[in-house]
Amino acid sequence: MPTAEVAVVGGGLIGLFSAHELVERGYAVTVLEAGGGLGGGAARVNGGWVCPARSDPLPSWGVVRDGIRSLVSPGRGSFLLSARALPRVAGYLARFLASSGGQTFSRSWDDLDLLNRRTAGLVDELVAARVIDDLQDEGFLMLHPTSEEAEASRASLLSVSRRGLCPPPEPILERRALLRLEPGLGDAAQFGFVHRGDRWLDPSRLVDRLGSSLRSRGVRVLEDTPVLAVRQRGTRVELATRSGTVETGHAVIAAGAWSEHLLRPLGIHGYVTPGKGYSFTIHPEHPPTHVLRLGDTHVGVTPMGGRTRVLGMVELDGTPEGLPAGRIDVMKRKAAPYLTGVDWDASTDEQVGPRPMTPDGKPLIGCAPGADRVVVATGHNMLGLSLAAPTATLVADLVERGSAATVPAFDPMRFTRRRR
Ligand SMILES: Cc1cc2nc3c(=O)[nH]c(=O)nc-3n(C[C@H](O)[C@H](O)[C@H](O)COP(=O)(O)OP(=O)(O)OC[C@H]3O[C@@H](n4cnc5c(N)ncnc54)[C@H](O)[C@@H]3O)c2cc1C
Repeated sequence: MPTAEVAVVGGGLIGLFSAHELVERGYAVTVLEAGGGLGGGAARVNGGWVCPARSDPLPSWGVVRDGIRSLVSPGRGSFLLSARALPRVAGYLARFLASSGGQTFSRSWDDLDLLNRRTAGLVDELVAARVIDDLQDEGFLMLHPTSEEAEASRASLLSVSRRGLCPPPEPILERRALLRLEPGLGDAAQFGFVHRGDRWLDPSRLVDRLGSSLRSRGVRVLEDTPVLAVRQRGTRVELATRSGTVETGHAVIAAGAWSEHLLRPLGIHGYVTPGKGYSFTIHPEHPPTHVLRLGDTHVGVTPMGGRTRVLGMVELDGTPEGLPAGRIDVMKRKAAPYLTGVDWDASTDEQVGPRPMTPDGKPLIGCAPGADRVVVATGHNMLGLSLAAPTATLVADLVERGSAATVPAFDPMRFTRRRR
């Protein structure tokens, strides 16, 4: 029997992990990537956190408040909406508001845990297989300016730990003890505690290693090949590209924040919307050895293979590209009180990455309606790295067994049905 072929559309995190799992299961895989190299989109730009424990879905009243505030004072806050973009993101926002209430929020979190519970084990397997070789486990240091804020943050993580995905947070430390852990902390870091269970890595290194491993195992990688449309005809799937049609046995749509235009012609209204995030590199006198979470700023700092990355922001301006003026400065102003010995003007590597956001914070994973050979795997919001490995196993199940492997919680049609 000839080896079954699968074409993966998009060489970002979800596409590459899916390709890896499909090769493991014996499929002949081709990856089609729109950009000039693997790992476009948000794949290399992110924080590198593999954080199954801290994976609450984005839609919540706090985020709604932040978004409204940013409409009133443009450029402020961490969840940014621009009035100009409202017509383009209205469909997403309407459904986001509907998902922000208590019950829907906690149901979505439970659903995300279905994937998250598998993350740690699957990532450990990738470490054992030497696909991942830089996983860091020193803990996340949660920093706060006041003891009240630190207590509240610890209480929230304590309740997260009851979900069973991480141990309880360690006791609160005062500044002197914090400085023993991280000598480069600024004055805003008065109280803090270590949270364990979440780990981190350099996502760019991971993309490179996955790419080499796939190529060495015979995967065809077609770069500069944007897929324009996907359709199933009988038992074959056709992918339209600028240089002609690629025919294959199955297709996986993993085009991140660009996925919606491939989904709509298949009858799926996923409302996948780019939520841009930004990161840059600093060169501190005392590089941190933990991931640092800086109070309520929603800015984080990741030590990354000799570099120190600062990351944050979710901006919905209706486009996946472009770094608006001033955004990096806002992040620097938020981070500066927490770190000393940093020349903020000497930062490098300023980057933008579009997160594929969905209205309920959950990914869309499943077969396209009436097209069992077209598998959708996108909409991983802020958690694409954390959820990539369990998503890949579900993708491979769907390729193997078609819609019989559907997990209803991630049904790509869930917003389409509500529209009717
Ligand atoms: C600042 C920032 C920090 C983040 N931090 C974390 C974190 O710490 N942990 C975490 O889990 N997640 C994090 N994320 C989110 C994570 O990066 C995303 O969820 C993840 O990258 C989504 O994976 P993806 O494969 O769906 O999309 P991407 O990784 O963006 O990849 C999509 C790929 O598809 C390609 N493509 C697009 N259209 C086409 C087409 N038509 N044909 C072919 N190819 C196409 C793109 O070029 C790209 O290579 C962060 C994101 C940002 C921006």
